[in-house]
Amino acid sequence: MSENTSAQKKSKNFIYEIIDQDLLTNKWGGRVHTRFPPEPNGYLHIGHAKSICLNYGIAKDYNGKFNLRFDDTNPTKEEQEYVDSIIEDVKWLGADFEDRIFYASDYFEQMYDYAVQLIKKGKAYVDDLSLEEMRELRGTINEPGKESPYRNRSVEENLNLFERMRNGEYKDGEKVLRAKIDMSSPNMLLRDPVMYRIIHSSHHRTGDKWCIYPTYDWAHGLEDSIEGITHSICTLEFEVHRPLYDWYLDQLEVYHPQQIEFARLNLTYTVMSKRKLLELVENELVDGWDDPRMPTISGYRRRGYTPEAIWNFSELVGVAKRDALTDISLLEFAIREDLNKNAQRAMAVLNPIKVVITNYPEDKTEFVEAVNNPEKPEAGKRQVPFSKEVYIESDDFMENPPKGYHRLVPGGEVRLKYAYIIKCEEVIKDDSGNIIELRCSYDPETKSGGSSTKKVKGTIHWVSVKDAIDAEVRLYDRLFKIENPGAVDNWLDYINNDSLKIIQNAKLEPFLKNAKPLEKFQFERLGYFCVDSKYSTENKLVFNRTVTLKDSWNPKK
Ligand code: ATP
Ligand code: MG
Repeated sequence: MSENTSAQKKSKNFIYEIIDQDLLTNKWGGRVHTRFPPEPNGYLHIGHAKSICLNYGIAKDYNGKFNLRFDDTNPTKEEQEYVDSIIEDVKWLGADFEDRIFYASDYFEQMYDYAVQLIKKGKAYVDDLSLEEMRELRGTINEPGKESPYRNRSVEENLNLFERMRNGEYKDGEKVLRAKIDMSSPNMLLRDPVMYRIIHSSHHRTGDKWCIYPTYDWAHGLEDSIEGITHSICTLEFEVHRPLYDWYLDQLEVYHPQQIEFARLNLTYTVMSKRKLLELVENELVDGWDDPRMPTISGYRRRGYTPEAIWNFSELVGVAKRDALTDISLLEFAIREDLNKNAQRAMAVLNPIKVVITNYPEDKTEFVEAVNNPEKPEAGKRQVPFSKEVYIESDDFMENPPKGYHRLVPGGEVRLKYAYIIKCEEVIKDDSGNIIELRCSYDPETKSGGSSTKKVKGTIHWVSVKDAIDAEVRLYDRLFKIENPGAVDNWLDYINNDSLKIIQNAKLEPFLKNAKPLEKFQFERLGYFCVDSKYSTENKLVFNRTVTLKDSWNPKK
């Protein structure tokens, strides 16, 4: 009983219901074994994360097993770089595949043997038609297809030709191996689908050992079967492939997992296909696969998203049977919720303007006490240096404020957070009329935590000028200007050219000089920020804005 309790606590999605039922009927001998089967032709994105959380979550909840398997059956698009990045990302998400990392390419010999078995059963044949000719004979949804003139070759001839295909006697496209199913099936995928094609191309793992490669449909069920997967979970577009998945395994009379489909994750203001993400990378529209604006796991990691937040997001989205578009603000909500609980607070001024406190002693530095994380008392407090000159955010001062502006104005008062109330006495401008400095007085009786009962409406953040450290801060916005760029052909026309803004001279509280790559902070009143792992050096700190404090996106702007 106990092993099922975590599964029972979860809101039951339909896949959990299927598994519960299977456990009741002992369909798989009590086993639950899932897998995540990426093709190593790109970096993983948040849609893949959804699939990982679902598959690994199931294995964990039912005390089952979870495999990481590379579906590396296409040598022309796959690379070791992608394999490495995928392993790193799956581990980072915390999906523990233990020692079960598999490669479809390790099964090529076995798949070949299975194909020979199908030929011997009269269920597969070598076809000499070109792809174009095959397409012509395939028919349409309304019209049955026509049989290939090579369809009725003898078993012996097929065995001989298939072996010669393997031995490299033919050029790419000269021959294929096809399943002999039904050229008039209403399901077009069952009209004698291709099982093997000739591709004279080196594979990143098997080198030049093979020049015939299995198609997805032929390979995938075999991979699941060989690994003893119980529930083969995939996205909805494979629903029409399921009869073929089942047909191959039935004909071979081998262990037969159950394919279950769920709706893929789509996010607003984002494209999510690896092909499109690759296009962004290759055209240098972004700074690599791990650009913090990319919906990739590596991009999100660099941006400061956490595995915990991605898991929570995945739970919030749930598992559906119909495709939908998920609002990206749900993801941002999950990130904020996590960082609010866990991120250390700090003060940082992105667009500094200098305030000179005229009645404060010249060389004095005093320390004021600041809360590290109000959500986490055990995070304690820190001492922040305060002195005669401080930076404040330039938009925390206005000469001609609108009604309801509660920050600093000429002659007005504001509290410097954790420190004193100051009053603006004088505005200093350069020859062109730009404000370059504010002269203020402070009220020494108003130190935070002291006995003064004086109240002001506004509280602003600040950084002591002589103690401040410099940093570059990168502010990100959505990469696309329209809600569903994935749905239009000219999606590249909708890239948001203002999606990255670089601030060169931000001023930060001094303790941040020891911040490590990927460390996360809340800059008070500004948002959550993370030390960039790519551009930060010993001498230069670069921060990425992970997410704003509130959802401030205005699609009409
Ligand atoms: P893309 O369409 O983005 O190129 P893919 O489906 O070709 O992705 P695979 O490497 O074949 O990528 O996918 C590995 C697994 O991740 C598959 O089981 C697939 O169903 C799942 N997956 C891919 N994209 C999504 C998504 N957007 N939402 C949920 N699961 C996904
Ligand atoms: Mg795919």
